[in-house]
Amino acid sequence: MSEALLEVRHLKKYFPITAGLLNRTVGHVKAVDNISLTIRPGETFGLVGESGSGKSTVGRTILRLHDKTDGEVRFKGISVHDLSKTEMNKLRPQMQLIFQDPYSSLNPRIRIGDAIGEALLDHGLAAKEDIPGYVMEVMESCGLSAYHYNRFPHEFSGGQRQRIGIARALALRPEFIIADEPVSALDVSIQAQIINLFQKLQHTKGLTYLFISHDLSVVEHLCNRIGVMYLGSMMETAPRDELFLRPLHPYTKALLSAIPVPIPKLKRERIVLKGDIPSPANPPSGCKFHTRCPYAVAQCKEETPEFRQAGNDHYVACHLV
Ligand code: SF4
Repeated sequence: MSEALLEVRHLKKYFPITAGLLNRTVGHVKAVDNISLTIRPGETFGLVGESGSGKSTVGRTILRLHDKTDGEVRFKGISVHDLSKTEMNKLRPQMQLIFQDPYSSLNPRIRIGDAIGEALLDHGLAAKEDIPGYVMEVMESCGLSAYHYNRFPHEFSGGQRQRIGIARALALRPEFIIADEPVSALDVSIQAQIINLFQKLQHTKGLTYLFISHDLSVVEHLCNRIGVMYLGSMMETAPRDELFLRPLHPYTKALLSAIPVPIPKLKRERIVLKGDIPSPANPPSGCKFHTRCPYAVAQCKEETPEFRQAGNDHYVACHLV
């Protein structure tokens, strides 16, 4: 098995809650609370969970867009949070982020070709005269045409804007891309096109992805391995087929039961979770999922389950497994 491209160990990201005239810290939002994961070169790791589970904060802390509270992030063996600002700027092109809404990051007055090329200039990765030709190549590989180069962001549809977001990231020749809910705002037919584009680019450019989504059915076709997060913690990780065929954690089972399936006899009994996800500022004691878990026993309220191996490359945090 190849060495890890990305290793995250016991990562924590707490945001302070302040109050009073002196802005004293009175508590913390535990957005990411002891997350570990490994991503191998060429792999797509899917990170799923409800909104508010901390998935996006994991992505941003890996890229050091947030400082960590504790733990470690290693990219190709380099401890990302220990780098100086200059060293981090050098590394940044290799680790790129694609947003759910690329439009918000585009200046409405800058032409698309210039928007895609500007980071190349910022990082000194290309001479000014070489940029238009190279940007057009990248645009074409993302399903855009050369005549789009001089257009403005408002002239594009949602799917095309996501292609622009992908082209902007790709222009820097990254090895690793974090895609944060990149298809959530798109129609189902456009979602499929963008997912196909992610797959094509992975094969042609040898990319490695961390694909963040609230929807297990979206990650099903794209990911080799999947991690399920709840309230800042990892509940289960497994290879994709193993997770879909043999889910072990009650939360994963509930998420899977909500996916519509075309063949009625394959349909799982729907598990409806009671209540909403609790606040990460005041997470439940013991197993964080115990307030909504249909199988909770007394031990679940007292003791935090260990995240332990339950099969080949299959890990789960539940007292009953
Ligand atoms: Fe449910 Fe208890 Fe397992 Fe948590 S540890 S998932 S509450 S059974």
